[in-house]
Amino acid sequence: MKKDTKLVTSGRDPAAHAGIVNPPVYHASTVLFPSVAALREAMKKPFEGVYYGRIGTPTSAAFEEALTEMEGGYRAVSLPSGLAAITTVLLATLKAGDHLLMVDTAYNPTRKFCEGPLKELGIETTFYDPLMGARIAALLRPETKAVYLESPGSLTFEIQDVPAIAAAAKERGVATIMDNTWATPLYFQPIRHGVDFVVQAATKYITGHSDAMLGAVVARNEAGFHRLKAMAVALGLCAGVQELFLGLRGLRSLAARLARHQETALTLARWLQKRPEVTRVIHPALPGDPNHELWIRDFTGANGLFAMILKPVPDAAVVAMLDGMKLFGMGFSWGGYESLILPVDPWISRSATTWSEKAPYIRIHAGLEHPDDLIADLEAGFERLNATART
Ligand SMILES: *Cc1c(COP(=O)(O)O)cnc(C)c1O
Repeated sequence: MKKDTKLVTSGRDPAAHAGIVNPPVYHASTVLFPSVAALREAMKKPFEGVYYGRIGTPTSAAFEEALTEMEGGYRAVSLPSGLAAITTVLLATLKAGDHLLMVDTAYNPTRKFCEGPLKELGIETTFYDPLMGARIAALLRPETKAVYLESPGSLTFEIQDVPAIAAAAKERGVATIMDNTWATPLYFQPIRHGVDFVVQAATKYITGHSDAMLGAVVARNEAGFHRLKAMAVALGLCAGVQELFLGLRGLRSLAARLARHQETALTLARWLQKRPEVTRVIHPALPGDPNHELWIRDFTGANGLFAMILKPVPDAAVVAMLDGMKLFGMGFSWGGYESLILPVDPWISRSATTWSEKAPYIRIHAGLEHPDDLIADLEAGFERLNATART
């Protein structure tokens, strides 16, 4: 079955619910047992079945089942946000005295979790160059217990050689974790490339409408799932049932939405490449991009997110451009139906690599508006930028 079809069919069983297409949304804390024997039986398998709302409901099971089917792997744990998914899987794989290899281009709150709470727990982090591929073997120490990947890199879109890194870690018995939010399981499946745990910030494209916080981790095997679930249960984390419903609903239209996001982003990227105000467009799906080859080898699609570097101009010119945008909103996150534009400073969150181009760096999320209207908005923005730069 093709992935587009799986998105439509997985995690639902209309025949079990009066023929209703979508699974019901269970609002639950207490679950009643018919007898002492049933209660005792349920407690023998604390991560299976339904016995308390926080541990799981048929609604969380439906979302987790659908995501597992998409990513491959053994089973998923849904969590209240993408960041909760990241912190839970790190805590599940590391303990005091262990060493973590973290990609230098990780989502900044991931970096902060390593530099703060993990460090305080006695877990050491070494940040590594996203482009080092198999050479990561040289950084593995006897106490290294996890290698964390995120590809493309946050803000700067470096594509990692995931199979090479996963193989190097596996050879030494080290767990690999990958944040796969950018590609979603539709365009890249880390587990198929050797990764042990996949993180999804479902807040982004899976939910897809900027209206919910949701995360998940899919574990490759049963042992990994049990460590992960045990940590989520120990921390008391569970995704909200309304958010799970929205995540499941978002999955159904993911293929259609992503195809359109991708097409519009490429249209904008090609238009921006021709603009005199732009030094470089950063988008791994563009031929000529330094990351294009690895992207073509491993990924089956791209999304609406990319970046551009502007020719040096006074800050006031960038401000004039961005403050006046009509369709592009300014705000964090991405993956919703609406376009976003954001000035970012990638160099402030790098330590193993350097980002030397200190020119204005703009991240763009292409939404589902018509590309002609988005181009007109950008064109008017460049007029404001140029007018301000001249004064
Ligand atoms: C947004 C994001 C997260 C965090 O997700 P939240 O749901 O906002 O906590 C993690 N990883 C990546 C790559 C993201 O873009």
